[in-house]
Amino acid sequence: MNQTPDVAARAGKSRAANAGGAAARPPTALTVKNLEVIYDQVILVLRGLSLEVPAGQIVALLGSNGAGKSTTLKAIAGLLPTEHGDITDGTVRFDGLDITGMDAAARVRRGIAMVMEGRRVFEHLTVQENLVAGGYTRGAKADYARVYEFLPGLAALRSRVAGYLSGGEQQMLAIGRALMSDPRLLLLDEPSLGLAPRLVDEVFGVIQRLNRELGLTALLVEQNARRALAVAHRGYIMESGRIVLDGAAAELADNPDVKEFYLGLGEAGHRRRYRDVKHYKRRKRWL
Ligand code: ATP
Repeated sequence: MNQTPDVAARAGKSRAANAGGAAARPPTALTVKNLEVIYDQVILVLRGLSLEVPAGQIVALLGSNGAGKSTTLKAIAGLLPTEHGDITDGTVRFDGLDITGMDAAARVRRGIAMVMEGRRVFEHLTVQENLVAGGYTRGAKADYARVYEFLPGLAALRSRVAGYLSGGEQQMLAIGRALMSDPRLLLLDEPSLGLAPRLVDEVFGVIQRLNRELGLTALLVEQNARRALAVAHRGYIMESGRIVLDGAAAELADNPDVKEFYLGLGEAGHRRRYRDVKHYKRRKRWL
């Protein structure tokens, strides 16, 4: 694949970071410490959540419905105020800087972009116009060519109205729009939700290429734990607003509890029916 000098330089940086192994641990891009979030001044959702995302890695954030995964991403992106949510304790640091009180636009300028759940594209605008909107923080420096080069499928759709695209195409557009701000940290909220298996493959493939070829750091929230752990370097499992388990992605995928509760597999490797898994949830060993 052809790479622009900018892309190639960043890819080189990422390879260097990844090649270091345990001896040269990549620096931490994002550190969330003891985060507490309350909606509408009464609904306590995050209860002292802490996590780290090393630079150049993909970190998966998994957990059951309502655990607080989306809230965590919104707290990192600075999007809580629009939902009457407040960070009442704890800190969010990005590249060593405390950004806990920073507004969302300033965080985008610092290099954080979020792909919201449900592919929130501007339905009445064309693909190209959606990308223009994504690049507003960069002004004249907005680089469509780089996004089209990376997501060639979008280039062919550039004058199509976004509302008429398929679910998979809209998800690619949502990712492309986030890339327009030239982020260093991408927050992805359930990018595979509602997509057919072939499109799920495509979306996870793009996330992996963004990481490998552009050196992009990613925090990936997913219900599809199996697929998320297959592309991630590390993973966190959260329940009721706290982290209950974390580790290397391969270790988590192999953990018997994770297998039972999130991958739907029993000890013999058989796939469990949803009702069985639900039953097992009552005896989670980490709670
Ligand atoms: P899901 O997988 O279902 O998306 P999640 O782990 O992402 O769940 P959140 O969406 O962060 O969880 O929600 C966590 C809790 O916070 C839920 O109980 C939810 O009802 C509540 N919540 C989320 N957003 C708001 C809001 N804007 N106002 C009030 N409560 C909210």
